[in-house]
Amino acid sequence: YWEKVGTVANTLRELEGPILIVSHVDPDGDAIGSSLGLYRALKVLGKKVSWIADPPRYLRFLAREEEYSNPVERLPPGATLVVLDAAEPGRVAGAPVEGFVINIDHHGTNPRFGYLSVVDPSKAATAQIVKDLIDALGVEWNPEIATPVLTGLITDTGNFRFANTTPEVLRTAAELVGYGVKLAELTDRLQWRPASYFKALGAVLSTVGFHFGGLLVTAHLPPGLNVEDSDDFVGLIRYAEGSQIAVFFREREEGVKLSIRSRGGVSAQAVAVRLGGGGHVPAAGATLHGVGLEEAYRRVMEAVREELEHAGYL
Ligand code: 5GP
Ligand code: MN
Ligand code: MN
Repeated sequence: YWEKVGTVANTLRELEGPILIVSHVDPDGDAIGSSLGLYRALKVLGKKVSWIADPPRYLRFLAREEEYSNPVERLPPGATLVVLDAAEPGRVAGAPVEGFVINIDHHGTNPRFGYLSVVDPSKAATAQIVKDLIDALGVEWNPEIATPVLTGLITDTGNFRFANTTPEVLRTAAELVGYGVKLAELTDRLQWRPASYFKALGAVLSTVGFHFGGLLVTAHLPPGLNVEDSDDFVGLIRYAEGSQIAVFFREREEGVKLSIRSRGGVSAQAVAVRLGGGGHVPAAGATLHGVGLEEAYRRVMEAVREELEHAGYL
């Protein structure tokens, strides 16, 4: 791991051409945080770096508008593409995955694409790898760099509550707070949601369903409702007592997007993979292309039944 981090650091330090930083579609706190942290660190080194991103509303406070740029269809000549937190090339947003690609990620399902890659599923967040990379680059830490990196650790560990909250995570977080992050202000700000979110909560919770004797809890965004920052709903229903797996459905233009969470020996990742997606064992997702809610529910029931049988619950 450290050798790979060192190789990427040396490579980045020596680059003279343009560097483009991108992450995955539907970016979360780790996607935005790790990208912005690395972007700011490379800026300090005087690199020609741009960060291609479209941060969701609840994360936009982390960055200034002039720091992120629009998607590109082609890479400039001689460019290096740094891809962060993207489980697969098909999930990369903002630029074509071509040319000199550096792939930095922590998803077990990552096929290790790219010319150079640091993929370590033992890391809680891509932000942890970026923390080590910034150390290897020798950039001096300040609150501007530490805040987005800490954000990635906070969001991917569910505020330091998930099983990936290792001693390493807590030590890294302590170190980053020591660089001047205003932790209480940051965690408060990360929970802000627009009024539309709170108005939608009732409608969403009225769709909650329990299946397989309560082992599976589901809910969906009611048709016609389009809530920005709706990524949190699965985080609510997953606490239904007795449930081992939670699935949240969002109908979109391209199909139905699924957010899947699990515990107790059940693998959300296995369910996601059966449905053509991926992710981590306890938290995964998939998009069912070209189907409606009803068909999506049918497929999820089937995939979850198989996984519950496999895990010995049925
Ligand atoms: P979320 O439910 O928060 O969108 O995603 C949970 C986890 O699953 C994240 O780590 C995310 O990267 C991964 N994930 C979500 N959707 C997909 C997908 O369609 N394909 C793959 N490979 N991973 C996904
Ligand atoms: Mn992510
Ligand atoms: Mn991540």
